[in-house]
Amino acid sequence: MAVRIIEKKIEDILSIMRNPAQVRNAGTLAHVDHGKTTTTDSLLMGAGLLSPKVAGKALAMDYVEIEQLRQMTVKAANISLYFEYEGKPYIINFVDTPGHVDFTGHVTRSLRVMDGALVVVDAVEGVMTQTETVVRQAMEEMVRPVLFINKIDRLIKELRLSPNEIQQRIVEIVKDFNNLIDMYADPAFKDKWKVDPAKGQVALGSALHKWGVTIPQAAKAGLKFSNIVDAYEKNYVDELAQEFPLYKAILNMIVEHVPPPNVAQKYRIPKIWRGDINSPLGKALLEADPDGPTVIAVSKMNKDPHAGLIATGRVFSGTIREGDEVYLINAKTAKRVLQTYLYMGPNRIVIPEVPAGNIVALLGVDDARAGETIVAASIKDVAAPFERMKYISEPVVTVA
Ligand code: GDP
Repeated sequence: MAVRIIEKKIEDILSIMRNPAQVRNAGTLAHVDHGKTTTTDSLLMGAGLLSPKVAGKALAMDYVEIEQLRQMTVKAANISLYFEYEGKPYIINFVDTPGHVDFTGHVTRSLRVMDGALVVVDAVEGVMTQTETVVRQAMEEMVRPVLFINKIDRLIKELRLSPNEIQQRIVEIVKDFNNLIDMYADPAFKDKWKVDPAKGQVALGSALHKWGVTIPQAAKAGLKFSNIVDAYEKNYVDELAQEFPLYKAILNMIVEHVPPPNVAQKYRIPKIWRGDINSPLGKALLEADPDGPTVIAVSKMNKDPHAGLIATGRVFSGTIREGDEVYLINAKTAKRVLQTYLYMGPNRIVIPEVPAGNIVALLGVDDARAGETIVAASIKDVAAPFERMKYISEPVVTVA
């Protein structure tokens, strides 16, 4: 199977990145085996890979084989997708999150650079202990969740549920999920962040069979649970996937319900940053001001066999450019940025600058580690780092 390549001029990509309303930063969280990897594959295949258009140059490739893509995505710290929604282009960053909950805080480091989380729940297993752990971690970092109820095919083929029973099962999962939000969300967001299927904050589908819908989409198209059961019983699941591709349901949900970076930073910064929010720097961070001082939170360090150590992080304020002098607050060292890159699909491409609100890959900051705060060298004496991250271990299960 092949993945499309979508060519865009660098200037066009930069103009999207400069408008926070057209940027979303999200990631996928799930209990192990609930379908995080399969869902991500399905998003990549559906949306296609963005590639820079170089004037006068023949395109290196016009599609990528799925196996090749797998190899590229295994170690990607971020995958940027290009998606058009209601005639408007968006860049949606999918930050890599670890496949399993661990005790080292990796999930939290990824959460720091995201504003929204796609939580995947297996329709048969429902909300499990790791679902609870990741939702709790997301709430600590003020990351807004949306829900994907996956493996609906299992309810039909394995449990042989009727359309009514399927609906009941979905209602139960949504209720359990909202209970987690009720338990762990900041009081100001408890009600706002509970997911409502009628508002398109829940998608249901099968990542394996690549179909998915939200309730408003289904209602608009006249799709009923009985049609979905029929699709499996009468063998037209491929048609279902053609008409209701999973990537559209999920990316629509993310564009509509994950806040853009400048909106999210207004409530996230007071919680995740240690400095004075009334200072000029604090204000630049609250606004995600591209003209403010540079502040970047690093989520991951990767070793590139050719280039060397690559830092991936989120620009919270300012605009980072090649040649910039920066200061690493935790490592207490000054560095010079040798190159700035943007993730295009799972590839990195050189880009002259990356403004606030976006995910950047940096070459030249070798002493950085995940969790580092990088700032413009000019503000090193006044800059505060981000809060230490809380490591949440799994809830203790007591058997009665
Ligand atoms: P992860 O651990 O959350 O990344 O889960 P994976 O994406 O690796 O999926 C775990 C297993 O569930 C694999 O065997 C997948 O093929 C399977 N799986 C994923 N999505 C679906 C689905 O929609 N339906 C069914 N029946 N199986 C699925």
